[in-house]
Amino acid sequence: LSPVPSDIEISRSQTPKPIALLAEEIGLLPEELEAYGTTKAKVHLSLLDRLQHQPDGKYVLVAGITPTPLGEGKSTVTIGLVQALSAHLKLNAFACLRQPSQGPTFGVKGGAAGGGYAQVIPMEEFNLHLTGDIHAITAANNLVAAAIDARILQEATQSDKALYNRLVPSVNGVRRFSPIQLSRLQRLGINKSDPDTLTPQEVNSFVRLDLDPEKVTWQRVVDTNDRFLRKITVGQANTEKGHARQTQFDIAVASEIMAILALTDGLADMRARLGRMVIGSSRNGQPITADDLGVTGALAVLMKDAIKPTLMQTVEGTPVFVHAGPFANIAHGNSSVLADKLALKLVGKEGYVVTEAGFGADIGMEKFFNIKCRTSGLRPDVVVLVATVRALKMHGGGPNVTAGVPLPKEYVDENLQLVAEGCSNLKKQIQNAHLFGIPVVVALNVFNTDTQAEIDLVCRIAEDSGASAAVPCNHWSRGGRGSVELAHAVKEAGSRESHFRFLYSLQDPIVEKIRTIAQKIYGAADIELSPEAQTKIDYYSQQGFGALPICMAKTHLSLSHMPEKKGAPTGFVLPIRDVRASIGAGFIYPLVGTMSTMPGLPTRPCFYDIDLDPVTEEIKGLF
Ligand code: ADP
Repeated sequence: LSPVPSDIEISRSQTPKPIALLAEEIGLLPEELEAYGTTKAKVHLSLLDRLQHQPDGKYVLVAGITPTPLGEGKSTVTIGLVQALSAHLKLNAFACLRQPSQGPTFGVKGGAAGGGYAQVIPMEEFNLHLTGDIHAITAANNLVAAAIDARILQEATQSDKALYNRLVPSVNGVRRFSPIQLSRLQRLGINKSDPDTLTPQEVNSFVRLDLDPEKVTWQRVVDTNDRFLRKITVGQANTEKGHARQTQFDIAVASEIMAILALTDGLADMRARLGRMVIGSSRNGQPITADDLGVTGALAVLMKDAIKPTLMQTVEGTPVFVHAGPFANIAHGNSSVLADKLALKLVGKEGYVVTEAGFGADIGMEKFFNIKCRTSGLRPDVVVLVATVRALKMHGGGPNVTAGVPLPKEYVDENLQLVAEGCSNLKKQIQNAHLFGIPVVVALNVFNTDTQAEIDLVCRIAEDSGASAAVPCNHWSRGGRGSVELAHAVKEAGSRESHFRFLYSLQDPIVEKIRTIAQKIYGAADIELSPEAQTKIDYYSQQGFGALPICMAKTHLSLSHMPEKKGAPTGFVLPIRDVRASIGAGFIYPLVGTMSTMPGLPTRPCFYDIDLDPVTEEIKGLF
């Protein structure tokens, strides 16, 4: 239709196929499916065993140029592309997307189900609770937080003997260690299984984690943009006997448990990663883990359903996996390894799996390759780089754009000069993808204000900059039909041999790995470490965590650390303010400048437009 109706109107006007029918069409057995209502279902991981001899399909990554705050349409391109591959090229195709956080859904950016005629339906289910994975992560994360503060209080107020009697109680006259306690004893080098034989010294080291309240790194989380939780004091009631301490909440998708969900390859691996999560350190500087708290088994139980990807469909009935949703600026920004692996088996050798990396290619794509592909062992065949005329104009010197405010006239009228200058960002991001040895197809996501001359100019510059192809895409207004040219270009690029390589070796020192990303991907002259960052790097290297990949926490609004620097800045020195470690997820996490892990709400948040019709139960105002 023209004009294109709102996302929720399009979503509602299309009746999704029953999820059991979709599952049958893609070759799932009824027992491999766990329906949540009629439009979404979790898929059992046993499918991976059943299809283990099936060759994988082609693996396509959708990344983007440095975006405006409005988003440049990577999700719509991902969905438009699978719709075109499936309905028009008659190939098996699957999209793998992240589950959105409710922070942006009710805050500034809105949902992430795509948009126009390239979206996942029903979009309100996709954008809200889905199958409860984020709630499970929140529950698991906050159980760890509760265990930490309770333990600090108990250790501070009880003798070794009292603690021991409570931790290893006598039941009907018999005392036994639980399996998780036995593994802690082993880590402590105490090879005893009879609780009555521990020496007082062994009892002391068993019962006391001796967590330093100042060095707890684990935070509570909630999936709401609630800026007043950026700094809080817990434990102010009299019952906590003066053990108040300052801490903070992060947005739920920033939890290490979300990163683990996205990177794990199965239940045993997830449990092991959950157990390895370092939550702080003891007064003598030893890392304390979730295993030490004894909470690992309970976390695995809370996460047992979340580990299964959720099957949904596009407006054109193409299958989609929705699974995991770490942000790309503060976490690694990619959907799950498990969803990609399952989808690659399901589409078979001639099929295509299209997955998306958050924000610009400098962060989402770099982390996709260096973290996700390193963990999964999967190798992509093609990168689709999404560009828009409006973002290129911004990089060329156009004024800032803000959500909810009409675009300035530079973005509405033709302006070839701004577009040409802004292509510096596109060129740099093409080069970034080439650093990994993968062919690049540029997808220009067309808006109705773009002129033919602007479209031609971008495609010409992209091809001159080494892209295998650059094509305009009209999936938003036309669905899969609008992305047929892109589908052909991806098929062509995917038939070439790719020569994938990582950007750095895990054996490089932490500082060298950070410097390589800063210089080669961002265009920095060098990096500058704060004394705090240097101390942490020394500490992590000493603890044996030096060989982990790097997950930079950096603004998504510039290739540099300065959101206002558009285009492709060079010559800057990248400041590394602090360095943290997510040992369970398996990465070192440098903070570039100040990055908030808890977003706030704008003056006019998206929730102003959201409402429910009490008679029809229809949701209004989601986009
Ligand atoms: P990203 O994945 O890059 O963050 P999305 O695909 O979520 O971006 O798109 C951001 C917003 O822009 C969505 O609301 C989407 O409906 C809208 N949008 C995307 N492409 C177009 C287009 N070609 N014309 C108009 N609106 C679009």
